[in-house]
Order: sequence, then structure tokens, then C-alpha cells
Amino acid sequence: MPGSLSLKSVQSFWVSGFLAIWPVFHESRAVCGFRRVVRAAPTAQDVGRVANGSGRVDVAVLGGGLAGLSASLAFARRGRRVILLDRDGLVEDGNADELFERWDRPGIAHFRQPHNFLGLARSVLLDEAPDVLDAVLGLGALENRQYELLPGEAQPQDESLVSICARRPVFEIALRRAVEAEPKINVEADTRVVGLMAAKAPREGAVCVTGVRTDRGQEIEADLVVDALGRTSPVVSWLDSLGARPPLERRAECGLLYYSRHFRFRPGVEMPAVPALLRGPRGEIGYMAFSVFVEDNRTFAPVLMIPPWERELRALRFDEAYMAAALSIPALVPWVHPDQSEPITSVLPMGSLQNLHRSLVMDGEPVAVGIQPIGDALCHTNPTFAYGASLSIRHGFRLARVADGANDARAIALAFDDAVGADAAARFDAVSAEDRDRLRLWQGEPIDVREPGDSMALFLRMTVYAAAAKDPDLFRAVARRVNLLDPPDALERDQTLMERAQQIAGDGGPPPRSRPERAELLEVIAQARS
Ligand SMILES: Cc1cc2nc3c(=O)[nH]c(=O)nc-3n(C[C@H](O)[C@H](O)[C@H](O)COP(=O)(O)OP(=O)(O)OC[C@H]3O[C@@H](n4cnc5c(N)ncnc54)[C@H](O)[C@@H]3O)c2cc1C
Repeated sequence: MPGSLSLKSVQSFWVSGFLAIWPVFHESRAVCGFRRVVRAAPTAQDVGRVANGSGRVDVAVLGGGLAGLSASLAFARRGRRVILLDRDGLVEDGNADELFERWDRPGIAHFRQPHNFLGLARSVLLDEAPDVLDAVLGLGALENRQYELLPGEAQPQDESLVSICARRPVFEIALRRAVEAEPKINVEADTRVVGLMAAKAPREGAVCVTGVRTDRGQEIEADLVVDALGRTSPVVSWLDSLGARPPLERRAECGLLYYSRHFRFRPGVEMPAVPALLRGPRGEIGYMAFSVFVEDNRTFAPVLMIPPWERELRALRFDEAYMAAALSIPALVPWVHPDQSEPITSVLPMGSLQNLHRSLVMDGEPVAVGIQPIGDALCHTNPTFAYGASLSIRHGFRLARVADGANDARAIALAFDDAVGADAAARFDAVSAEDRDRLRLWQGEPIDVREPGDSMALFLRMTVYAAAAKDPDLFRAVARRVNLLDPPDALERDQTLMERAQQIAGDGGPPPRSRPERAELLEVIAQARS
């Protein structure tokens, strides 16, 4: 960690109180001098002090979603004093169903949208916080052992092919409870971060962030500020107003509107056995796509996805239209038929879905130090790929790890960029390419999905993934790709597997097109709404 003030300085800062803003900046210049200073062990009292007003901590984590909770836990378990600031209120207690119904989270628009927690999320937790994983499972989450679907003999590394099926609040509460139990973390709920404090660093152009301000008038100094404010993080504009050079920022539309609804199987009904990696059926039917997310405690959620130009299909936001549509998709019938399950929510629509990739390191130099975006604030992608939770958790734990080994704020920025920057960029590229080509396909462009030259992204998704069931090596490579356990281009770089997939696809003819036709679906929806 970069230069920290000693406990004595903390006390003198505290004595000088709120008027000490300039001295805070003065001290902060020293912090930006990139020294490594060992801090005396803090007392519980030091942590508590920040709660009542301004003060100083090792790490200020902005946002208590999956990324912020992971980072808080990771830093605290490495001995750092952490303050976690979140605009939302305190968590109510309760079991999985009570939490899902009652946990009020206006700070996360997609809090109740279905989530898959991929192999990467599980393996990071297994390594870094196995207690959290146990707690998630204890709340009724399902361990989805994908390796059981392997067509051939299992290998030792196949044990990582396991995803976690849980509703997002159920997963998040396990992390949150672990955070709240850590004595080194001070959780400040109902606290909105409104800006950054900074000093100009002694390095060309890089702004040195030294702390944050909140809507409760607090000024909290920190050696490191972690931006875990999610998809709508305003940190880039805050840095801009502090005079930072513009960071790298790339955006691409996902081109999807989301309509999901949660259901629970009726007593005695068994979950349909679907030999798919993520347990539920998924498919694309030429003008829209669907996917079933399996969750905890016998719940599940089918998502119907349409492109933005499908105005008539926006009727899917109405419960009766959604039900009629779901029942007209054969793969969904065993799930949503009223004999099988009952809805436990209304339809939850979600739009404005974008892919974003951001980096504060430009041309090898950070535009700002003392601050690090993680999770969705660093990179977010089309939610159907289910990357966000895993990457957020990974970022949180990885940041704490690299900070431990870095000598100063600049070194933290560079080491973190080194650890996750290229991966985030590659994920953004892969998802954006698939989104672009899927829209081309839906717009009627003649793309042969069995030809990698036509669209590598669609070839992988629609041809290679389909062929995987027939070949153990292909299955393994696809499963590792889906679960984020390999670099995104690992599969396409494997010529042998690519050729094998083409051969299997060639043997089987073109991928079948699912029902219903668009006109048929519109008719079904119109009838349901009349
Ligand atoms: C529709 C949808 C479905 C998804 N499905 C999946 C999936 O299946 N699998 C998967 O892995 N990922 C999925 N994701 C992505 C995943 O939800 C995100 O990647 C994840 O939420 C990112 O976590 P985060 O902590 O970075 O941000 P968030 O979870 O958004 O947390 C941000 C936090 O910041 C707080 N906050 C915001 N502003 C302020 C402020 N000014 N001051 C204080 N606090 C503030 C918020 O209250 C919140 O707690 C989905 C996303 C969407 C949109």
C-alpha cells in the first residue's frame, strides 16, 4: 500500500477536525509521493471514528455490490482498515425467500434480475473466502456440477466446472454478512458518495485521489479509493472535473431488451433434466432469444430477449403476454406450464444494456492514482453471458492481492491493470462482436453460422457449443470458456478443436431453428391480451 499516516497522525488529524481540509491535502501530497509506509495496527476505535464524521482509513470502498463487498472482505482479511459506503439502506434479516422479496436495493436496478454465478466466481470464493461459498449453499443455492455432463472420462481440473444457481440477493447476502462480521470493516449504509478529494501527483498529468466526500458531509481520507459504484459510476466525470486526462472508455450496445420472471416449481415437481451447461434451456429463434436461469430453493427464471427494434414484442412486459409467449416456446413448456410451476414475481423488464470497457491506464501510465475502478465500473458486458458477477468478485480479491505486493499508488494501478486489464478488454471485444453479429443475423443478413469466416462469434456460440456434447475435449474447452476459466480466445486458437467442431456440425446438417415463427408469437400474444 502507498504511504499511510501513522496512528499518531490519525489522532492529530482527528483533533484538528473538519477545518483541516488543507492539511489533509498537504499530507496527501506525501501519500502521492509513492512511499511504502507500514501502518501501526489500527484499533476498533479508529475504524469506528469514521462512522461519525470525517477521518482516515486504509481503503475506502465506494459501493457495496458484488465488487465492493468482495474488495472490502479481501482488504480487511489482509489487515487493512476499510470503510464501505453505499447509498442503500441496511439489510433486513431473513431466509432466502424473505430476502428476495424484501431487500430493498434501489442502487442496483438489476438486483432482482436472474443471475448465473459461473465457475470463475465459485473458484475465486473457494480460494479466497470459502466461508462465503458455504453460506450461499447454506441458504439453498444449488451447486451445478457441469462435469457430470462430460461425454468422456473426467480429468482432475474438471472439478472447477461447477456453477452456482442462486437468486442474486441470496448470493449477495452471503458476502454482505461476511463483510458485516469483519471487525476491520465499517459499513456505512444510506451514504451516497458525492465526489473525490485529490491532490496533484508529482507525476505528469496523473491526479492523485486521496479520499471521498459523502452526502452526509463526511470527508474520508484513504490510501486507496475503490470505485465499485457499478454500471453508472460517475467516477470518470469526477476525475475529469479534477483535471485528469480522459481514461480509455469503449462502449457498444448489447442490442437487447430483457423480460424475466421468477417461478417456483410446485411441490413434487422435478426440475426438467436439460443437458445444458447452465442447467436451463437456452436458444435463439431467429428474431429473439430465451434462456432459463436455475436458482436456489426450487426457483428459476426464464428470460425472453428481443432486439430494440421489435416494438410489438415489447408487450412481453405484461404478465399475460409473457406467459403466452413462454408457453409457445416448446423448450420452456416443461418449466412454465401452470401444472409445473407458479410465478413468484411479475415480469421484470430491463433495457439500456451496454457493453463497456474502461481503463485508467493510458499508454502505460495511469491518468489517476489512489483510485481503482473494479467490477461493472471497470467493465460490463451483455448480461446473458453472465460474466459480471464473476469478474466483480475476481476484481475485488485480485485488487487486494496486488495492493499487498505494490510499493506505491502508481504501482497498484499498473499491477492491477496488468492482472485484469487485458482480460477485461478481451471480454468486452468478444461479447461486443457476438452482440453485433447476432443483430446482423436477426436483421436478415445471410450469415452461415457454421463458417468461422462469416462470424467467429456466432460460429462459436451456435456451432461449436452445439457440437460440444459429442466430444469430450470440445465439451471441456467450451465449458471452460463459458465459465470464464480460460482466456476468451483459447478455444478459437485451438485449430484441432475448431476443425473437429466443424466436422461434427457438418455431419449433423444446419442447426435446427426453434419455434414459434414471429407472426405466430404475435398472434399468441394478441390473443392473451384481448
Ligand atoms: C439484467 C442483468 C442481468 C445480469 N445477470 C448476470 C448474471 O447472470 N451473471 C453475472 O455474473 N452477472 C450478471 N449481471 C451483471 C452483474 O449483476 C454485475 O456485473 C454486478 O452487479 C456488478 O457488481 P458491482 O458491484 O460492480 O456493481 P453493482 O452490483 O451495481 O453495485 C454498485 C453499488 O454501488 C452503490 N452505489 C451506486 N452509486 C452510489 C453512490 N453515489 N454512493 C454510494 N453507493 C452507490 C449501489 O447501491 C450498489 O450497491 C447482470 C446484469 C444485468 C443488468
